[in-house]
Amino acid sequence: MPQNLLILGGTTEASSLAHLISKTNLKATISYAGRVERISQQPIPKRIGGFGGATGLASYILAERITHLVDATHPFAAQMSENAIAASKMTGIPLIALTRPPWQPKAGDNWHQVSDITHAVSFLSQEPLRVMLAIGRMHLAAFYDNQQHFYLLRLVDLPKTPPLFSNQIIEVARGPFTAAQDAALLSHHKINLIVAKNAGGSGSYAKIEAARQLGIHVLMIKRPVIRNRQELYNLGDVIDWLG
Ligand code: NAP
Repeated sequence: MPQNLLILGGTTEASSLAHLISKTNLKATISYAGRVERISQQPIPKRIGGFGGATGLASYILAERITHLVDATHPFAAQMSENAIAASKMTGIPLIALTRPPWQPKAGDNWHQVSDITHAVSFLSQEPLRVMLAIGRMHLAAFYDNQQHFYLLRLVDLPKTPPLFSNQIIEVARGPFTAAQDAALLSHHKINLIVAKNAGGSGSYAKIEAARQLGIHVLMIKRPVIRNRQELYNLGDVIDWLG
């Protein structure tokens, strides 16, 4: 059977893979959850929206005669990744994860690492700070109990229902950003703590670099552990895996 890939997307890596695949004679579709309003143009067919859990994904794989599943979702999209593992088992279709190694602290970094959002929220139950909450929009509500801080939120889209912090500024912007841009933003808002997810990769690293330059503390949320899958870190290895 000719190869027919399903790329689970939502990341720069997924888009880069789509571009690379479009230059070959392989057939592929890229899938999005549909969380953001503007999905970037892709050179391969795309589909948008959930599959309906692992069984829904398995049904899609069989119906569309998918031969290879590439999970190129964000390292914090753990549910989708677990569904991909389960659907691969159900269908016997091979799965690879295209991901990025987590960032490691370097000399000059001032990180406090926590295991998840809940621990980040607990860490913030302290005296008022000026916080850049750089975690996307999905988990903002978890921080609503800590209203004593000023929050700088950077979001891809202006939310339909604005977040409910009493002292907040929303910056609508889509990365990647440079360290110089982020240093200017952090200085302008007099930020003294960044809350970030350890996403890895270069797309959202600028704020971490800027924090190092400015001596700003980072509350770094560790990524969820996803077991039972093979992970690759570069596009060429995915092409080799496809054989
Ligand atoms: P998640 O919690 O792991 O997934 C929740 C549900 O959303 C999944 O069960 C699935 O619904 C649907 N879904 C997720 N990714 C999908 C995809 N690529 N195609 C089709 N359905 C998808 O995911 P999330 O953390 O909300 O992330 C959603 C999307 O945003 C992902 O594509 C991810 O790569 C991207 N993203 C996430 C983050 C982050 O910090 N989490 C950051 C940047 C980008 P069904 O069960 O109905 O199939």
